[in-house]
Amino acid sequence: MDVPASGFSAPDEARVTPMMAQYLAVKAQHPGALLFYRMGDFYELFFEDAEKASATLAIALTKRGKHLGQDIPMCGVPVHAMDHYLQKLIRHGHKVAVCEQLEDPAEAKKRGAKSVVKRDVVRLITPGTLTEDTLLDSASTNYLACLVVMKGQGDMALAYADISTGAFHVLATNRQRLPAELARLMPSEVILADNLLGDTVVQQALATTQAAISPLPQSRFDSANAEQRLLTYFGLSTLSGLGEFGRAEMAAMGALLDYLQVTQVGQVPHLRSPQREEDGEALLIDAATRTNLEITRSMRGSRDGSLLSVIDRTVTSAGARALQNMLSRPLARPEAINHRLDAVGFFHADETLNDVTRRFLKQAADSERALSRLSAKRGGPRDLKALADAIRTAHALAASLHQDEAPLRLRTAVDVLLAAPLQLADELAAALADELPHLVRDGGFVRSGFHEDLDAARKLRDETRTVIAALQTRYINDTAVKSLKIKHNNILGYFIEVPQAQADGLRKENGFFHRQTMAGAMRFATEELSGLEQKIAHAAGRALALELSMFEDFCQAVMTERRSISAMAAALAELDCYASLGFLARETRLTRPVVDGSLAFEIREGRHSVVEAALKSQGAAGFMSNDCALGGDEGQIWLLTGPNMAGKSTFLRQNALILILAQMGSFVPAAFAHIGVADRLFSRVGAADDLARGRSTFMVEMVETAAILNQATARSLVILDEIGRGTATYDGLSIAWATLEYLHGKVKPRALFATHYHELTALTATCPRLHCMAMAVKEWNGDIIFLHQVKQGSADRSYGIQAAKLAGLPASVIARAQDVLTRLEEARDGAKPQDLLADLPLFKAQAPTPLPTWKDELRSHLETVSPDMLTPLQALEALYELKRLAKGGA
Ligand code: ATP
Repeated sequence: MDVPASGFSAPDEARVTPMMAQYLAVKAQHPGALLFYRMGDFYELFFEDAEKASATLAIALTKRGKHLGQDIPMCGVPVHAMDHYLQKLIRHGHKVAVCEQLEDPAEAKKRGAKSVVKRDVVRLITPGTLTEDTLLDSASTNYLACLVVMKGQGDMALAYADISTGAFHVLATNRQRLPAELARLMPSEVILADNLLGDTVVQQALATTQAAISPLPQSRFDSANAEQRLLTYFGLSTLSGLGEFGRAEMAAMGALLDYLQVTQVGQVPHLRSPQREEDGEALLIDAATRTNLEITRSMRGSRDGSLLSVIDRTVTSAGARALQNMLSRPLARPEAINHRLDAVGFFHADETLNDVTRRFLKQAADSERALSRLSAKRGGPRDLKALADAIRTAHALAASLHQDEAPLRLRTAVDVLLAAPLQLADELAAALADELPHLVRDGGFVRSGFHEDLDAARKLRDETRTVIAALQTRYINDTAVKSLKIKHNNILGYFIEVPQAQADGLRKENGFFHRQTMAGAMRFATEELSGLEQKIAHAAGRALALELSMFEDFCQAVMTERRSISAMAAALAELDCYASLGFLARETRLTRPVVDGSLAFEIREGRHSVVEAALKSQGAAGFMSNDCALGGDEGQIWLLTGPNMAGKSTFLRQNALILILAQMGSFVPAAFAHIGVADRLFSRVGAADDLARGRSTFMVEMVETAAILNQATARSLVILDEIGRGTATYDGLSIAWATLEYLHGKVKPRALFATHYHELTALTATCPRLHCMAMAVKEWNGDIIFLHQVKQGSADRSYGIQAAKLAGLPASVIARAQDVLTRLEEARDGAKPQDLLADLPLFKAQAPTPLPTWKDELRSHLETVSPDMLTPLQALEALYELKRLAKGGA
């Protein structure tokens, strides 16, 4: 540490020490971040920062000196363990400004004993600007998004980038679509003008993302400055080659780049040229539908249990991220979808080629992230090796995939792979050692034999080490002190150590100078040893300097080729998606869907991938497949009735998921599927409170239904489950009735509508495109058996009480409910329900079920024993158990 503890205390209460003055000046530049202030081997935090960090990290909060008469709260984290602490702080939504020492403390001392080491912030670490593997999830994207609303017309745009992979996109949006876009991207951080914080629509959209919000002054979102920033960053004289961007889009991209420049303090990692997302290119899925359908996350918020988790067979992290992107943003243009399906079909048809491809891909490390770290000057020798390996793999893979009849997407990918700089990869492979250190500053990563000067310096360094060993032997012989040792530490450098009792053998006249007396040992030096030490230090220093400069050269060479390497990384990830989807199609019996511009929706023997996988893992009976046909010139609507637990929700969701899979370019779980692309998918399934936003279950349901009725088109697919359940029966029925009529007569989408209101089936009389379908069940001995089959017609009853019985409601409650139901059903024949219920005898709790006797227990134990399956020892144990039970009755 460069300043003693006393450097913090000022005798005069009003005086601020030079170091505190420096700290406060740096902190003032970064008020929104925790300041990690480097002091020797620690990052120290002071004042409120220390209090926040110690609470989040569960580390001790101490005091250090005084400021303006008050104790200064302090806590610290060791530099070498920084990543671990950063991870926790970032996860808790903090930002961290890393303030480093910019000179050697010795340099500062030259300016005077009291001068302070120069320090400044070298990087601002925020949730959306991470590049380190330790801080990132390898299978997920990590987007920083920038939202801009232009004054005047209110044009809105969203730019987003993942600096750990180089992805950079922009799209024009609007208030209605913003929540859906944010729900798709799930950015970890959103930057926006501070005056947007009062905008309710923006606020509500942001609330669903759990992103860290970084408000900035409006002046940072200027579109004219933005253009200049983009031109400078991409080294262009005009942006016209990148596409046509609106002013809002330009401002969003510019502000995003500006933020990166500020947080990365000039070291902005490589970003690919911005890609504009065009309107109508993708299937729109709103936030509620995404949650309901558990596309990339389950309702509990985890990846497990989502559609993504059951379809992901990728073998690389970059592939897993690309698949997540494909699934989050299915396409809406048949041509583009069919190109993807061709590529998946190619890998589906040729199992051997699929195997070979997946084996190659497994050898390619995460080149996107390695390139990003190197371009941000945070990379190490292992990142260079990762790139070299990936490039060589890319060429080998391209050679094996190169076929004239391969589909377009594959041929394009192969061309990109072949453009990766093989010569550079070969040079790197020749230069890098087999075993690589983690950090550049450790040296030792250049292969011996690669560079003559380096070999010479290393030889000198290593030889002198051998000479030291020889010197030790000579000193032992000369002094006859057998336990004499030559050792090294950072304070004394090399020295000779002997036990105190034998120190007399080492005399000045023989060239031994006393250096230090320890408990039980004495330390000496000789001129010869000091001379050798200097030689070693010099040789080691030279070797390291040579390696560092070579590393710089390698990075430079990589940066020159960054565009082709980045494109290669994206192509490898894309191939991983196609090969993995081909593999999945074989493994889980998927079929290529027919996708076109019609309004067809015909599914034969469709299945729900997630429920099917869950049933399989539980060893339960197989999944019952079902057909669905909603196509036609004008959308058909299926009105689905059936008891609770009969499989209505599963059927509804499975059709929505089949549409998503088909439009992302995957094969689908069905024997046959013909799908005319949908522009929007809406799904209102199940009820959930959103108390955080002050909405009750019923309110959430109505808001979501309103969104569907206002936004759906004749090209949309709409899934509605139990509309109107959250209010009084007649209100709910009326709302469901009117909704169904409106969909049928006005919007005319393809739709599935599940309900418990059997009264709705009467609508078939006035709505010709409404078809009644029901979940089949069998009644047996007063219980119901679910067949999970969708058939024509409508359910005659709800069987709610039978379902409640299955769930284990007390027998007396079930019996009472049955009585009430009978009376209520009589009410349909004219009488008022209240009058009938008033006649109902009072609730009588049934006598509790008696506890089992010892005989019952004996009998049930005997039933579990299968004599043929028992080993002699188990048979003996079973006998003892029976005796024990029988004793209970004695
Ligand atoms: P509720 O009205 O109570 O919401 P539901 O009719 O919507 O019930 P689901 O939740 O879809 O019923 O299904 C209940 C359970 O039945 C599922 O968890 C699943 O285990 C099983 N199931 C549903 N569909 C099938 C099927 N086609 N084949 C096999 N099992 C199924």
